Parts: sequence; structure tokens; C-alpha cells
Amino acid sequence: MNFAQALERLLPVVDTVHERWVHDRDIMLQNHSSNAEAPVITCTKGCGACCHFPIIPATAGEAFVLLARLLADGRTVEELHLQFMAYARRYLEWSVRQGSLPLTDSSQTLFLKEKLPCPLFVRTPETGALGGHCGVFQYRPQICDFYHSLDSPQLCLMKKPHGSFADISERGHGTLDELQRSEREIFGRSAIGHLPLLLAALLTDEGMKTFLTVVEPDTSVENAQDIEDFGLYVSLLGALGYAWGDGDWASLAKAQAEVL
Ligand code: SF4
Ligand code: SF4
Repeated sequence: MNFAQALERLLPVVDTVHERWVHDRDIMLQNHSSNAEAPVITCTKGCGACCHFPIIPATAGEAFVLLARLLADGRTVEELHLQFMAYARRYLEWSVRQGSLPLTDSSQTLFLKEKLPCPLFVRTPETGALGGHCGVFQYRPQICDFYHSLDSPQLCLMKKPHGSFADISERGHGTLDELQRSEREIFGRSAIGHLPLLLAALLTDEGMKTFLTVVEPDTSVENAQDIEDFGLYVSLLGALGYAWGDGDWASLAKAQAEVL
């Protein structure tokens, strides 16, 4: 598949999922605000701690559509490549030093000390140490729309658990499932990964070629779809020069145990 064909297939998918989400989100927010006893969302404009998280989960298809929109807005491949590779280099050098990607709770907390924001984040220091706003607010991926807190932003700053509305979170995660299902129908696979790394990888020839390759999962193999999805993310990391290793397997197992 080529870039234009992929965009023609993916754009309506991303937009439709988002439009349905916005409709449902607004109803859920209305319900919560009409309940005087319900907690309130504490996220405010200028609070950018979550834009510094080491995992901003987006689908590869979302990253592709976002990239296409940045290019349509007049950004060039060269400048975006510079911007995202600078981030990826720092992120992956940190990972090599630590022995794995920041997958576990403790390594994510440690990563936050780097104060490395998403490359699409616009810093406004007057709003605090990690203050700023999203530079692509109207195009931001689903996670950046549905992630929220009902507690002090200080908890986010420390990467500690915080309250959120269960219905909004559940519906939000459902949008990622919807996107993945559609992407699998188009490409045979769909990776979820860290948004800035996905974008950096798509800005390399190898990464874009990998993303546009249509595969057919071998259904006779157990977990064939999971293997294809995961393989896509590992290949995209490979396009950035990062080799998934034993340390990453160990961290992934630990991270999975943490959420169970
Ligand atoms: S989720 Fe946390 S860090 Fe993100 S805007 Fe809300 S309070 Fe701030
Ligand atoms: S896309 Fe925007 S909202 Fe999402 S992490 Fe990046 S800067 Fe923050």
C-alpha cells in the first residue's frame, strides 16, 4: 500500500471513531456535571505533566493520520524528522542506559525526572515546571482526549494512581480497540505504542515502509494477531535503531504483572 491509499482508508476511520467518541463523551460529562455529588475533573489548561509521560499510547494508524495532518498543515518531513528524532534519540539512549524501555511503574517514575515532553508540547513556563499546552490540540490522539484526573495533578507529576470517571476511561479505551480492529482489517496488524516514537519511526523510510506493508496473520498459529501487532511495534522501534532485548522482555513481564 502507498501513503495516499493508506490515508484514504485511515482518515475516515480515525475521524468516525473520534466523532462518535466526542458525542458519547459530551453526554457522559453532562451526566457527571448534573450530579452535584460527583467529583470534578481537575485537569486544567496549562497542566502538562501527562504530556511528559514515557508512554502516551496511540495506534500506529492514529500516528500516521496525525503525521499526514501535520504535513498538510505545511510542516516539512525534514523539520518533523529533526524534531521527533531528537526526542527519540534521548528517549532510547535513556532506555539503553537503564537496560530497557520505561515500561514498569518504577522506570516510568524515574523517566519523568528527565522532564522530556512530547515533541508536540508547547512549553509555557509561567504555568509551572511542566506547564504548557498541546501544539496539535485539534488533532491530538484519543488518549490525550480521554485521559483525565479527579485528583491533584501532583499525583500525575509523581506518576501515582489517581481517580478518573470509569465510564469515560472505559469508553476511551474502547475507541483504541475500535481503531485497532479497523487497522487490522486494512493492514492485517495494528500496533499500540508510544506516540512520539511512532511518529519518529514513521518519519524514517524504513518505518514508513514497514507501516504500509500489508500482512496476513497466520491463523493456524496461536495468538497470531498479537504476534503481528507486537512485531509491528518492535519493527518500528528497529527503524529508530533500537533493538528490543532481554531487558525489555523482563520489564514487559514485570509491567504486565503490575497491572494484574
Ligand atoms: S491528567 Fe493529570 S497531568 Fe494530565 S492534565 Fe489532568 S491533572 Fe494534569
Ligand atoms: S499530542 Fe498533545 S496532548 Fe498528547 S501528549 Fe503530545 S502534546 Fe500532550
